[in-house]
Amino acid sequence: MDNTQALAVKYPQVKDLMNETPIFWKNPDYGQSAKLPFSKEDILDAVARWDRFAPFIEAAFPETKKMHGVIESPLIKLDQMKKAWNDEHETPLAGSLYLKADSELPISGSIKSRGGIYEVLKFAEHVAMTKGTLKQTDNYAILKSPEYKQVFAQYGVMVASTGNLALSVGIAASTFGFKTTVYMSRDAKEWKKAKLRANGVDVVELDTDFSSVIPQARQAAAEDPNVHFIDDEGSSDLFIGYAVAGVRLKQQFDKQGIKVDRNHPVIVYLPAGVGGSPSGVTFGLKMIIGPYIHAIFCEPTHVPSVTLGMMTKLNNEISVFDIGLDGKTAADGLAVGRPSRIAGKVMRTLLFGSVTFQDPTIYKYEAQLMDTENITVEPSAAAGFTAIDRAITEVPAFNTANATHIVWATGGSMMPESERRVDHDKGEALL
Ligand SMILES: *Cc1c(COP(=O)(O)O)cnc(C)c1O
Repeated sequence: MDNTQALAVKYPQVKDLMNETPIFWKNPDYGQSAKLPFSKEDILDAVARWDRFAPFIEAAFPETKKMHGVIESPLIKLDQMKKAWNDEHETPLAGSLYLKADSELPISGSIKSRGGIYEVLKFAEHVAMTKGTLKQTDNYAILKSPEYKQVFAQYGVMVASTGNLALSVGIAASTFGFKTTVYMSRDAKEWKKAKLRANGVDVVELDTDFSSVIPQARQAAAEDPNVHFIDDEGSSDLFIGYAVAGVRLKQQFDKQGIKVDRNHPVIVYLPAGVGGSPSGVTFGLKMIIGPYIHAIFCEPTHVPSVTLGMMTKLNNEISVFDIGLDGKTAADGLAVGRPSRIAGKVMRTLLFGSVTFQDPTIYKYEAQLMDTENITVEPSAAAGFTAIDRAITEVPAFNTANATHIVWATGGSMMPESERRVDHDKGEALL
């Protein structure tokens, strides 16, 4: 790209990104007013749809029984991890530390159970209402009937994924009876492919990176009018599915007595791949919880796609390859070189900032979380911890006893024991 040098002059931190130097980027447009393409009503509409589907989810996925078909994760206080943190960092963390354990979400064991499953539900509802006789007032458990399975079998669902989106969409769509195809990039884990195949999902493996897989999947889907393509680079339904987290987290704050106001800031750390899940969640937090909850995105120094897009205001018009990076990371959910079409645009005024990290640090925090709290997450999901030190040293207002820090653990409970042990050993060596 010829104008890379010009970009680096206009936005000096582009130089750090090119050099793979970990950065803290403060978004200069944070808090300004802007016209957004989505509203609070969109979120409440999605909440109502999840509620309508709860009887179906409870019947189809027995692990959701105790939550009555609601797919939500716990908010866990990390007192031991905070202690370990303060033992090894020069600047102690004054506030409280929590984990939003999306790693425990049913069906995919990841944050993708929010957006991915939501989009499948919305499509299923549309099909059932237009090709069947479903009404909003029905008990949606009837969608499990052989009659509806036959209706759904005439339709297909396709998605491209580095792994977790395929798991959530694949398992949900195949459960309805949709013909389900997932396109996976080369970094996708074997156990995820195996699990999908066991669920009757057609897995197409491509030996390329995620940003190249998407167009191929999109084209395959376009050839069949009965196929619904779930577009990780720009789907509004995915985005709104993630945003429902704002409503759920608000309920957890109320229940657990967590205050949010000018003197009680909440800082949320979210790993970003294509940027869809952290942006959707952030949008939900801002709409539902308000101005005193602040989101910080975390990305590998080799793949700072959302940060680069936002910093240069080029959003999805620029990829990390354009500035000479290789796009490689051990955090497979974050190995996305080009950001989504929605993320940067909607986040322009809503994102506090972002941090980039070197891969080894996520193994360190992953192991530390296992050792101190006995919680397993996958490498990507530990990324949030890498941002805390930068946030509290560069923004003193975030390091008060009244502040609440929430690391969004985006996935990992379904990781096989063998992989868990390998990760732990890598992290242990760095502790
Ligand atoms: C998908 C994913 C992310 C990032 O989400 P994007 O929507 O791609 O930004 C982070 N962590 C895990 C575990 C994921 O599966």
